[in-house]
Amino acid sequence: AEFLRLDEQAADGQGGEEPALAQPVLAVVGRPNVGKSTLVNRILGRREAVVQDVPGVTRDRVAYDALWNGRRFTVVDTGGWEPGASGLQGSVAAQAELAMSTSDAVLLVVDATVGATTTDEAVARVLRRSKRPVLLAANKVDDERLLAETASLWSLGLGEPHPVSALHGRSSGDLLDAIVDALPEAPRDLGTTAGGPRRVALVGKPNVGKSSLLNKLTGEERAVVDSVAGTTVDPVDSLVELDGQLWRFVDTAGLRKRVQTASGMEYYASLRTKSAIDAAEVVIVLLDASEPVSEQDLRVVTMVAEAGRALVLAFNKWDLVDDERRHQLDRELDRGLVRVPWAERVNVSALTGRAVRKLAPALRTALQSWDQRVPTGQLNGWLSDLVAATPPPVRGGKQPKILFATQAGIRPPTLVLFTTGFLEAGYRRFVERKFRERFGFKGSPVRINVRVRE
Ligand code: GDP
Ligand code: GDP
Repeated sequence: AEFLRLDEQAADGQGGEEPALAQPVLAVVGRPNVGKSTLVNRILGRREAVVQDVPGVTRDRVAYDALWNGRRFTVVDTGGWEPGASGLQGSVAAQAELAMSTSDAVLLVVDATVGATTTDEAVARVLRRSKRPVLLAANKVDDERLLAETASLWSLGLGEPHPVSALHGRSSGDLLDAIVDALPEAPRDLGTTAGGPRRVALVGKPNVGKSSLLNKLTGEERAVVDSVAGTTVDPVDSLVELDGQLWRFVDTAGLRKRVQTASGMEYYASLRTKSAIDAAEVVIVLLDASEPVSEQDLRVVTMVAEAGRALVLAFNKWDLVDDERRHQLDRELDRGLVRVPWAERVNVSALTGRAVRKLAPALRTALQSWDQRVPTGQLNGWLSDLVAATPPPVRGGKQPKILFATQAGIRPPTLVLFTTGFLEAGYRRFVERKFRERFGFKGSPVRINVRVRE
């Protein structure tokens, strides 16, 4: 058995070109101070103490990748999902509801030294309705004598309590075995937005407002997160709830703590951008609408298209844009964005909050396109009409024929055209344009490969 943080692999550049496959999600829920975060760290095999010994400290909503006995899964620590006005019991129950709707299995952590409290019972009531597996961890069983206490937790009606000491690691292997057994092989609803949180990267050149926007999206919590800076050493992702849906913003550590390196700043930033894009399914490229679109902006946009990720262009600082600037911007975009006319666009202001709620629908549209597959029959019906009306240009005295097409892949959508000869780039672009007119694919790059059959 081994522990390994996948984040570290990704940071090493071993992440590869393909987006990480969606993994089943385990959500860890429970009252404050039962040891959820300590247990999450134990699951991740970390040595450093991430836990703050301050009761009620608001932590960020975070998701981590874990690997146990060759099985990969995502752990969501709900430690930072803070009480609303509804009091502790209500908020922990709400936390459990959210966890159930966004994960593939739930781990309820109870403090065995305290026993089942009324809050634990309320949460267990919620979790008993779950259609997904629920596991019960009896934490703080630091020695044998406490084992007897765990038996009383059968009363929660969630099956066998798993005794564990998150602090000392006692029996954590057994618990992990049970977790891995309970998790499905693949996350549910793969390919739809109802599965685990989808991965979003927020990128853009310095000072476009990335931190400000993340701040706006995560609300007031962020201030608290910043004040406990240093609790997280590795790149971490943030879970952000937008429009009733949970999103996993990847590698947001750099947006929290502004990394200032005098030299090589841009180099560092572009490496970071590349790795965030690779880790994401959909990318928000943030641009400063009050300034001319720059080479650097376009480079980032190109990076996203080449990486084959879904794309949302967010024009920030819209509060500074007047009519004159707007017309200028239109002209700049006509010229600059010829390669990505399909990108989703939103005009926002991280400062005033203008239109930031339009981001979630744009992300959803882009991802739907990214996941979309056109059945082969439909594709070929459309293609034969297209080719009959506008055949490929003659090359070297020969008319290449398109024999057959298939959508070989999604994420990004990839078409393969089987032909009798070379198709010019101009004709391929024409096919793509017509394909989009017919089938949409707004927000997603579409790849067109040509296989010449001799
Ligand atoms: P959370 O609020 O549920 O995330 O709880 P924390 O992980 O922050 O832990 C709350 C406190 O319980 C911390 O002081 C931990 O050191 C302590 N704690 C966590 N796990 C154990 C354990 O297995 N045994 C003991 N004795 N203390 C633990
Ligand atoms: P980052 O480097 O991309 O993370 O950018 P920051 O979030 O640090 O923002 C850079 C500067 O732009 C800060 O002074 C922000 O206050 C300012 N800023 C961010 N968003 C907006 C906005 O929507 N409108 C205006 N007027 N200023 C903004």
